[in-house]
Amino acid sequence: MHPTTLDVETPPGSTRTSADDPVDRPGVRVGMSAAAAQRPEAESAPPIISLRDVHFYYGAFRAVKDISITIPANRITALIGPSGCGKSTLLRTMNRMNDLIPGTRLEGEIRYHDENLYAPYVDPVEVRRRIGMVFQKPNPFPKSIYDNVAFGPRLTGFKGDLDGLVEESLQRAAIWGEVKDKLKQSGLSLSGGQQQRLCIARAIATQPEVILMDEPCSALDPRATLQIEELMAELKQAYTIVIVTHNMQQAARASDRTVFLNMADDRAGYVVEQDETITIFTNPANQMTEDYVSGRFG
Ligand code: ADP
Repeated sequence: MHPTTLDVETPPGSTRTSADDPVDRPGVRVGMSAAAAQRPEAESAPPIISLRDVHFYYGAFRAVKDISITIPANRITALIGPSGCGKSTLLRTMNRMNDLIPGTRLEGEIRYHDENLYAPYVDPVEVRRRIGMVFQKPNPFPKSIYDNVAFGPRLTGFKGDLDGLVEESLQRAAIWGEVKDKLKQSGLSLSGGQQQRLCIARAIATQPEVILMDEPCSALDPRATLQIEELMAELKQAYTIVIVTHNMQQAARASDRTVFLNMADDRAGYVVEQDETITIFTNPANQMTEDYVSGRFG
């Protein structure tokens, strides 16, 4: 990987605040946190990832088209839209996960800081270390809790204090207290919500800068969902988060910025509108956005 601009330090984490906890406010269609309503414009934060005129193809089928979006640093950006409009596809373009699917092709440009993410000299494995991913279904490896978290650092030849890194990652993922006395137990012995936090700890352990989350709560109960949302609010102090969600309440509660996609007649997904989450949910510019967020279609 190019040695210059991609060498960005991950800032240290910080403690949980109650400021981002979900709070219902009158006049907002779905639950919007009071803190979200008062946040400064996300545009003031520098974009960490930007997509310009991106089209993505599975074979001859164009799944998304004309995508130009920016992902601001230390914010949570939600991708919303009807099923099949290309949210997951778009998310996977941001860390080159789609490269692993044969017959796929990307047109346009995706920049990570000042670097072209798809430049020939860029190592996709290093990209995925810096831009980690958490999947819909919690997928711990059939290994101990400790070994799950240590897996990435071991793979990349981490030479420092592995015990310390494992503990710090589990702490940042808000699961240390629940597992510290059973680190040798299988990750699969945990509940679904704990498994998902373990997977977040595993992603954090490789010291990424961005965490992509593909419907991370869709297999979880409401309590575990809320825990993940609280965790996201805490993690954004140190990481940039992009989340795909089909749950509009979750997008409204948990994100700062929202990108709304829809499907065109040729079935390719495109961006209808992107803005501050509060604007998308209370005063969108486009009638289609208004119809979608108020549940009239999708
Ligand atoms: P969403 O996340 O919004 O539900 P997806 O990104 O999963 O949408 O899918 C967008 C389109 O791309 C759909 O038409 C889907 O069938 C197609 N698609 C997704 N993954 C693949 C794949 N591996 N091979 C071929 N087509 C795919």
